[in-house]
Amino acid sequence: MDEVAVMGSADNYGADTTVQGTPVVHGLAYGPVIRPAEPPAFVIDATAEIAEEQRAVETERFDAAVTTVADRFSARASASTGSSAEVLAATASLAKDRSWIRAAKKRIAGGTPAVVATSSAIDQIAEQFTKLGGLMAERVTDLKDIRDRVVAELLGLPEPGIPAPDEPSILCADDLAPADTAGLDPTRVIALATRLGGPSSHTAIIARQLGIPCIVAIEDLDRIPTGAMAFVDGERGVVGLEPDGEAVSVAVEKAREVAAAAAAWRGPGQTADGHRVLILANVADGPSARKAAEPGVLEGVGLFRTELAFLDRPDEPSVAEQTELYGAVIGAFDGQKVVIRTLDAGSDKPLKFVTHPDEPNPAMGVRGNRIVLSHPEIRIHQLDAIAEAAKSTTAVPWVMAPMIATVAEAREFAALVRERGLVPGVMVEVPSAAVMADRILAEVDFVSIGTNDLTQYTMAADRMSPELAALTDPWQPAVLALIERVGAAGAAQDKQVGVCGEAAADPLLACVLVGLGVTSLSSAPAAAPAVGLKLSTVTLDQCREAARAALAADSTTAAREAARAVLG
Ligand code: PEP
Ligand code: MG
Repeated sequence: MDEVAVMGSADNYGADTTVQGTPVVHGLAYGPVIRPAEPPAFVIDATAEIAEEQRAVETERFDAAVTTVADRFSARASASTGSSAEVLAATASLAKDRSWIRAAKKRIAGGTPAVVATSSAIDQIAEQFTKLGGLMAERVTDLKDIRDRVVAELLGLPEPGIPAPDEPSILCADDLAPADTAGLDPTRVIALATRLGGPSSHTAIIARQLGIPCIVAIEDLDRIPTGAMAFVDGERGVVGLEPDGEAVSVAVEKAREVAAAAAAWRGPGQTADGHRVLILANVADGPSARKAAEPGVLEGVGLFRTELAFLDRPDEPSVAEQTELYGAVIGAFDGQKVVIRTLDAGSDKPLKFVTHPDEPNPAMGVRGNRIVLSHPEIRIHQLDAIAEAAKSTTAVPWVMAPMIATVAEAREFAALVRERGLVPGVMVEVPSAAVMADRILAEVDFVSIGTNDLTQYTMAADRMSPELAALTDPWQPAVLALIERVGAAGAAQDKQVGVCGEAAADPLLACVLVGLGVTSLSSAPAAAPAVGLKLSTVTLDQCREAARAALAADSTTAAREAARAVLG
């Protein structure tokens, strides 16, 4: 974590204690601190044994508790929309997952009480998930949440989780389970601050959707006691204790005005002096694309993550099924720019029908475009389906490959895409692709920088690791230097250079990216208007000056401060 001179700074509103983490969602909030209710306390009696004739009843009790917990998740999923609904539905299916249920029932059948069986079965599965790393490791928080809820149900205790505060409050926690974050009311919980969690954790995803300030990876968050008054500055990543209430209230009001202006922003994306920058949406399927298109503000899709639709599929979806899916996204933005990414299978998004099951280091393994080594036909089927879907629309879709590392890979992919009358591009996620950007761009019509992976690989830091969130911060000057190189190559060849990683959702960083030569910014739709608004208040020259200042910095904090000094 960077050392920062935030103590006593004028922006700390007179707070006597401040703690720093990784900023995820901008905005300023002020209120009393609340924390989630403790999980149910129970004493494990390792010697306790259920009598043989009682074991069937104990299994029934266990089944009933699991069903209740899973049904509650499903009911909340039905009452939610967007990523909240997806997160809750995923937790409902994890609660019903046969592997942990089988492990628990085996224990009960051997005489272990249901509470103990639940706890030890989930701990066993959690350990396996942790070893698998990536997205699976991220699910350990979900598993432990399921454990606590099933145990509370078995003990007849109230459901653990977040208290419903009477006044707008700041929620501080070690980490937040999806069931907690997805049910949040943003008028009651006005900011999130967590000790764990990375920029792509559930907490971050939901905070972005709710539009409430969020900071993750705050090492010493326990210095902020429950019940105290605190502020959360989601832009600088600072939580401050007992600030001057009046000074901070004025700043909160100003931040509210900025948020209201963002909500009212209507595009098109451009700087104050008219330099055009496309503001685009990251989508996962037809419904999310339609929702992104609905307000009529965003100018197209900058990243359609096709693999997300197939995470639970045992077999490759048919070409017809894929055609329908791609057609739904293209149709949502008919006539506008739509960038479709071919399957980014592997690592944190394993697909059952392609992923190598036992790679020791999956992030560096056969993922993304590399799946053609073992399954060339899968990419062909996908490109055929995209070409077929494109027939029903007026605009030609752009198609890009993930995890391109060499010029030859870009050339081979571009030929396949052009054969089908589509526009070829590649993602710049591997540092080698950034280094070779001029020669890669010579092979394709555009590139899109995936800052999530580019940061992970540049900094050699797992993007899912909560401990390494400071390293996986896209403000790292080394990452900005690689982006500068790609931007310069794009300008020299007059080709588009997009950014579709989380960096494009940060309004301040977005301006720096434009200063580095980026021509389009694609993010979660909820984050895009704030980016468009910020861009509209600064000139291209200011963006360039901020980019130079950030590049000259030695740390993420210094880069942010340097950019803020120029961009306001
Ligand atoms: C990225 O790596 O920045 C990106 C957009 O791809 P994903 O997050 O899907 O890996
Ligand atoms: Mg990526």
